[in-house]
Amino acid sequence: MNILVANLGSTSFKYRLFRMDESGGEVVAKGGYERVSDYAAVIDDAIATLQRDGVITGPDDIDAVGFKTVLGKDLSGCVVADQKVIDALEGFAAVAPAHNPPYANGIRQFAKSLPGAKLVALFETAFYQWTSSASANYAIPRSWRDIGIRRYGFHGASHKFIAERSAELSSRDDVAEIARRLYLDGPRPISGKPFRVISCHLGGSSSVTGILNGVAIGTSMGFSPQSGLPQNNRVGELDSGAIPYAMRTLGISLDEAERQLTKESGLLGTSGISNDIRDVKQAAKDGNPDAQLALDQLVHSIRHWIGAFMLELGGIDALVFTAGIGENGPDIRASVCANLENFGIRMDSVKNDACQAVEADISSADSCARIFVIPANEELVLAREVFRKLS
Ligand code: ADP
Repeated sequence: MNILVANLGSTSFKYRLFRMDESGGEVVAKGGYERVSDYAAVIDDAIATLQRDGVITGPDDIDAVGFKTVLGKDLSGCVVADQKVIDALEGFAAVAPAHNPPYANGIRQFAKSLPGAKLVALFETAFYQWTSSASANYAIPRSWRDIGIRRYGFHGASHKFIAERSAELSSRDDVAEIARRLYLDGPRPISGKPFRVISCHLGGSSSVTGILNGVAIGTSMGFSPQSGLPQNNRVGELDSGAIPYAMRTLGISLDEAERQLTKESGLLGTSGISNDIRDVKQAAKDGNPDAQLALDQLVHSIRHWIGAFMLELGGIDALVFTAGIGENGPDIRASVCANLENFGIRMDSVKNDACQAVEADISSADSCARIFVIPANEELVLAREVFRKLS
């Protein structure tokens, strides 16, 4: 089955074409466009390129298109991308303005450009469908709950992959199978010992998720992607009382407050240097105290959520680092794991220092939990889910 995974931004379109079968799959082509103004034209161009390069014989050769949609109003899961999905994305366009409108438009366009292909949306919120009501809901008036304000969680594709892969690496094939088939079968009981994982997706945007037997029990991300850990340029967790106070005291509008919290906060806001952790690290090394504070805030927040999920899970069997910072940052990983020996969780500092963007177990032999680095591959996750859904 040929599955095109479409990554849509407000002015960009990237794609990977996967050839999938029961035993797995591989990328057979990839490409992308920046500064896009006419999506119909670039989709046609991508199909023509694939045809010219001999990867497909014609548009009908593309069996399915997968979309990593972020947040839908009253809709989640891995679903056929029809008008319902478009309505759900548009219903929450204001909550995820950088993501929802491009995906709604992209789905419309692919339906026209590839009428023979099955279109499938995998919502980033899908992994959190089974979290408890206490974890998913805020203490807000009923009328706020009724308009859909709750903790949804994001990075679902990434954390679900970690649920599968960490179980495989721990020889827990029973749990790996549950995680693999989660969107088809839902959570299933296991007969052996529970398998408890904390997954740290640390990238341009970051979240920490607690996972029990392949299923998320909670996550640091909330209603919008402006929550949880400090993000590259987004605020992360903030007391709701700070917003009206800042507006009144600084004399700024709601739109301006929102802009500053979504574009000028996080690593960039605290450091005043950059939204890229490499620049922030360099500035900290050069003695900039704000840059050091930005790094310390990130580590503090990661540890806060690890602590919360360790308590809720009653201990852990695996702690996992993934995404740009998680895969490439031995120093951040070491800071996150400081003092975890008190809980029997021991990092091997030599293995940690040596690990850059490859899959590895960086725990010491006497650690009571494994510490893994697992590279993220969200496009592959999407292709797998689309394949499972359609077969
Ligand atoms: P996104 O969330 O946008 O998909 P990534 O997972 O690619 O982002 O992570 C991007 C972040 O990872 C960047 O902010 C960068 O700071 C960090 N990063 C990427 N490569 C490296 C590296 N070699 N060393 C340290 N940090 C890195």
